[in-house]
Amino acid sequence: MRVFAILPAAGLGTRMAGPQPKQFLSLGGIPILIHSLRAFAAVPRITQIFVAVRKTEMERVQSQIAEYDDGFAVRVQVVEGGDNRQESVSHALAALPAAAEDIVLVHDAVRPLIDAATIDRTIDAVKEHGAAIVGMPAVDTIKQVERTAHGAIVTGTLPRESIVHAQTPQGFRFGLLQSAFAEATADGFVGTDEASVVERAGHPVAVVPGSGVNLKITQPGDLELAEFYLHQRAR
Ligand code: C5P
Repeated sequence: MRVFAILPAAGLGTRMAGPQPKQFLSLGGIPILIHSLRAFAAVPRITQIFVAVRKTEMERVQSQIAEYDDGFAVRVQVVEGGDNRQESVSHALAALPAAAEDIVLVHDAVRPLIDAATIDRTIDAVKEHGAAIVGMPAVDTIKQVERTAHGAIVTGTLPRESIVHAQTPQGFRFGLLQSAFAEATADGFVGTDEASVVERAGHPVAVVPGSGVNLKITQPGDLELAEFYLHQRAR
């Protein structure tokens, strides 16, 4: 059984409102994507890492990988991404030299502070359950709303004990992920994460405890927080 990682990194990062997609921004002097790649390369069980990027960014990413290579580059392959995250992951899945029982981990390129122990725990959970994601219990009370012309109106409150914020990595047996993706494509379903695609195929998905440090750099302010965590980790 082999373990592969896919890092979708073909987003435009429009919520960050900067000239650069967020995965290329610098964190502690190193591009965010490189931090994410190094985190996965630090896990010996991972045999190969596939990064999906926009066609126009492929050269830049190849040269960044070469520039920051400290031994991880031999395990990294760059593939072309798609118009949404699911498509980017699909392209990478098509390039994987994997067998049905192999494990595939998908990780947001913009979560650079993922740690090796959490990646290892996710792999173990996939071995046991076939599908597992990193998740964080909700601390806020979660409201369901209806969006109206006058703003959002609360229509209900979800029981907090039953809510988990989905993070990544999200891991699956290759055969399961491949068939769930084929089903989603046939039905025209586009999810915001891989687990939603597997859930609708009827397969249970286990949860591995995550942490706030594994934040997704999405909005202004997130980068400063990530710098703080990076600094804390180095001390
Ligand atoms: O859009 P979202 O915040 O869910 O993006 C999560 C990850 O998916 C990011 O790493 C982003 O680069 C990636 N993505 C992608 N291809 C797209 C859109 C997003 O690989 N077309």
